[in-house]
Amino acid sequence: MRILVVEDEDRIAGFLKKGLEEESYAVDIASDGMAALEWVAGAQYDLILLDVMLPGLTGFEVCQILRQRRVDSPILMLTARDDIDDRVQGLDSGADDYLTKPFAFKELLARIRALTRRTASNPTSDVVLEFADLQLDTVTHKAKRGHRDIDLTPKEYALLEFFLRHPRRPLSRTLVRESIWGYDYFGASNVVDVYVRHLRQKLESGGEPALIHTVRGVGYQLDDPE
Ligand code: CA
Repeated sequence: MRILVVEDEDRIAGFLKKGLEEESYAVDIASDGMAALEWVAGAQYDLILLDVMLPGLTGFEVCQILRQRRVDSPILMLTARDDIDDRVQGLDSGADDYLTKPFAFKELLARIRALTRRTASNPTSDVVLEFADLQLDTVTHKAKRGHRDIDLTPKEYALLEFFLRHPRRPLSRTLVRESIWGYDYFGASNVVDVYVRHLRQKLESGGEPALIHTVRGVGYQLDDPE
């Protein structure tokens, strides 16, 4: 079971991560809404724990964007305010449930169990994605080619997971950029090319053949070595 915790306060995020890991959940932390969208673009979560009060995008806005992108992971909202309007707005924006801070950790666990029950009986993803001699563990974020371990940055991981979930299909630069960096990314226009280059270097640094191929005029494609 994999949970994304979206919380800007380090102390609370750390407390949640530690507590949830003790209950055997795999936990990623995003400290703002943009980071959350990036994590979700690159991985499948069994639950998203989303704080309402965040710098930049609010939890409501993040929730709305995730639902627009057809992310169907259960979303549990956390807020400091016990306000009926917040509760309504949270549920309207697509959240499944709502918990007011401060809360008892036991209650959080109970809500998480209730929300993940429906996905637990219906696992949506394999833990290890494979293609040719390449393996990617979606829980530990470790990649391997054959027996060679490959260290990835979070962005490289997200990119590789995206390729592995869409093998043998030409993926346009725009699609890749919007999926990994978000449709509202306004940074360098060649960001996809730069990251694909880094990723290829890591995947091929043991002299292995290329798996990510350039598709002229389009973008890239994960495919058998030529
Ligand atoms: Ca907060």
